[in-house]
Amino acid sequence: MNRTVIEHAHVVTVAGEEHPDGHIVVEDGRIAAVGPGPAPDAPGAERIDATGRLATPGLVNTHHHLYQWASQGLAPDATLFEWLTTLYRPWARMDAEVVHGAATAGLAWLAKSGCTTSTDHHYLFPRGGGDLFAAEVEAAREVGVRFHPCRGSMDLGASRGGLPPDEAVEDLDTILAATEAAIDAYHDPSPDSMLRVAVAPCSPFSVTKDLLVQSAELARANGVRLHTHLAETLDEEDYTRREFGMTPVEYMDSLGWLGPDVWLAHCVHLHDGDVARLAATGTGTAHCPSSNARLGSGIARVADLLAAGAPVGLGVDGSASAELVPLAGEVRQALYMQRARYGPTALTARQALEAATLGGARCLGRADEIGTLEPGKLADIALWRLDGFHAAVDDPVVAFAFGATPPLDLLLVGGRPVVRGDELVTVPQDEAARRGAAAHRRLMDRAREVL
Ligand SMILES: [Zn+2]
Repeated sequence: MNRTVIEHAHVVTVAGEEHPDGHIVVEDGRIAAVGPGPAPDAPGAERIDATGRLATPGLVNTHHHLYQWASQGLAPDATLFEWLTTLYRPWARMDAEVVHGAATAGLAWLAKSGCTTSTDHHYLFPRGGGDLFAAEVEAAREVGVRFHPCRGSMDLGASRGGLPPDEAVEDLDTILAATEAAIDAYHDPSPDSMLRVAVAPCSPFSVTKDLLVQSAELARANGVRLHTHLAETLDEEDYTRREFGMTPVEYMDSLGWLGPDVWLAHCVHLHDGDVARLAATGTGTAHCPSSNARLGSGIARVADLLAAGAPVGLGVDGSASAELVPLAGEVRQALYMQRARYGPTALTARQALEAATLGGARCLGRADEIGTLEPGKLADIALWRLDGFHAAVDDPVVAFAFGATPPLDLLLVGGRPVVRGDELVTVPQDEAARRGAAAHRRLMDRAREVL
């Protein structure tokens, strides 16, 4: 048996308990025990003295576009629609090599900020670009994080009234066949799964009604989850009101797109009825505060969604609308943006940490497996160093959530070390960074004539 014992940490279980001097016992990739004081005898275990450390569940990233690592820093002062129309054509030049390099760097960066499970939303598949979905799956296996890639899609080109140029979209039959093939090839529903696939048409202004309806049917027939962008900007609400006479949430509701198997990125511009509907249907929200701020989209009604009982997780969003945003940093960003808008009691440090862990697990349908530190759950654990500059704050969760994120001492995914001493140990850290830079250069070369 493979055993690890973590002792003398401040353990925050996110399941209602905290142990200021606590222990966690890991056996064969799962949590065997959590409690106060020193750990019971565990013969043969690796024992870790975690004095001065905070132990939290591994963080869950609920929204990303890993390929965008290759297109960072462009259109820095644009709205979402301006930014998208600048970037669609360069993105249409990416290939599997770009995606593999970008995904390696993006997932390495996530792991270094405490992320043990990440989703990805890949929605642009250029003809002749190779197997982009396989490329990001390979990167996730190398980095060693749990991965929930979404087979995304766009089928509404500009010639039919959509925002993306025609060269960036696929046809409906191709999308549905490729999506089913991705599920067949990669989706693993087992309880300790490292990879689950979701179905994810991109957004109301880039996909047809037919694609939304048939994607939902496909996902539900295969027992996988549904994801899309929704209510990100007022431009989007103008679009759905003009085209369909409804708010974005009402439109998706009319297509059977709300439910406990759906999570939506952003949900910035919600009306009271929308908040109630998301809560009543158990639909999750991936809150991406830095991206919403970078694009000037607005501040999501997170406090209202939580008060209504809707699942809310955190996401970094793509690296091109939130350059180098660390997932742990989104805990602070979420906290401060809610307070800036709604006052200092809008969100507590513990609520923000819960969104980053259990809330994310709920969005991904894995709250019974990850997101808290409890016996029987997968051993996805982050250990943060609070014995340096952070030692002048007495409350460890406040020290973690306010100010700069503390150094990451250890990150376990299913009990396996992915980060030790703030260094990635699965892929050499410098190599991951080099691959990301090479992906950027390659895409910029390939896209030169449309930049
Ligand atoms: Zn996004």
